[in-house]
Amino acid sequence: MEYRYLGRSGLKITEITYGNWLTHGSQVENDVATSCVRAALDAGITTFDTADAYANGAAEEVLGAALASERRESLEIFTKVYWPVGPKGPNDTGLSRKHIMEGINGSLRRLNMDYVDLYQAHRYDHETPLEETISAFADVVRSGKALYIGVSEWNAQQLRDGQALAREAGFSLVSNQPQYSALWRVIEPEVVPASLELGMSQVVWSPMAQGVLSGKYLPGQPLPADSRATDEHGGKNTIKDYLDEDILSNVQKLRPIADELGLKMSQLAIAWVLQNENVATALVGASRPEQVTENVKASGVKIPAELMAAIDTALAPSIIKDPALTVSPPTRVA
Ligand code: NDP
Repeated sequence: MEYRYLGRSGLKITEITYGNWLTHGSQVENDVATSCVRAALDAGITTFDTADAYANGAAEEVLGAALASERRESLEIFTKVYWPVGPKGPNDTGLSRKHIMEGINGSLRRLNMDYVDLYQAHRYDHETPLEETISAFADVVRSGKALYIGVSEWNAQQLRDGQALAREAGFSLVSNQPQYSALWRVIEPEVVPASLELGMSQVVWSPMAQGVLSGKYLPGQPLPADSRATDEHGGKNTIKDYLDEDILSNVQKLRPIADELGLKMSQLAIAWVLQNENVATALVGASRPEQVTENVKASGVKIPAELMAAIDTALAPSIIKDPALTVSPPTRVA
């Protein structure tokens, strides 16, 4: 497993991160969750991404328990704040000082850890002054409860404004966490150039488009059982826009490209994001340990330029690039 630096910081993270959205505390039983974490560790993954809101706090608890016997210094733990956990009161969402301070304490309690490595603003909060948010994050760093600060799904201007204030406050934002895959490329026109200028990396979510780029969803065929598309806990809703016949047909055009490289389509999808500029890590999910073992083989793979071009051609009609699609809720709705 190869390591990369997170932004312009000295922190090294594995280029494949294990993420537990929709799975831990929800789609999969705790013993399967633990086996997935074990498979990740066995494959050399040391970086793990979660959020306070995943499974209403349960995802942090399951991850913390699965990692309890590991040496803390050998792990890089990412979590997030913005969405509510538990009651959806007026101060339970967003990036106010109150919610950030209460959020970090709740995350550390559920993870059963003294600090997280990366604390991320899960969305931009249009209701809280950015100065208040950044000064609260500065205090979280000074308290030692988080070592680095990142954001998620911020647009280019929000990144610029946030980084300027962070630097005034004596720290730097090191990362942005956007959706990014061979199909969803809205960060390419604006967010990536801004991040390069600002010294921030992308830590990218749904690199496999929630499993669609693994090629297992076949056009015109029944949905595979035990997949996100049939998960009644929430997965079914989050993946539905990708289960479009045209998208699924275009994805199948990647199969010969993967074959030519001796890769599974899942590995091709992950290697594709890792090869793109400014990506520090691919946050990859899994509902069973065999998927983790398969997916980590994307680390270190190099896709030749002509095959990168062939991927673009195959997916062209289904690729989304509009930078305006990087949006956070206009108000703090839960
Ligand atoms: P992926 O695109 O990697 O999808 C993962 C899912 O695809 C798995 O749960 C599994 O679902 C399926 N899968 C994985 N490997 C294979 C394989 N080899 N063959 C076939 N199917 C496979 O990413 P996620 O959508 O899970 O997101 C990854 C992480 O990103 C999250 O855990 C979270 O940490 C982060 N994230 C952040 C967000 C944000 O707003 N900042 C939003 C969403 C995610 P199944 O087996 O059930 O079909």
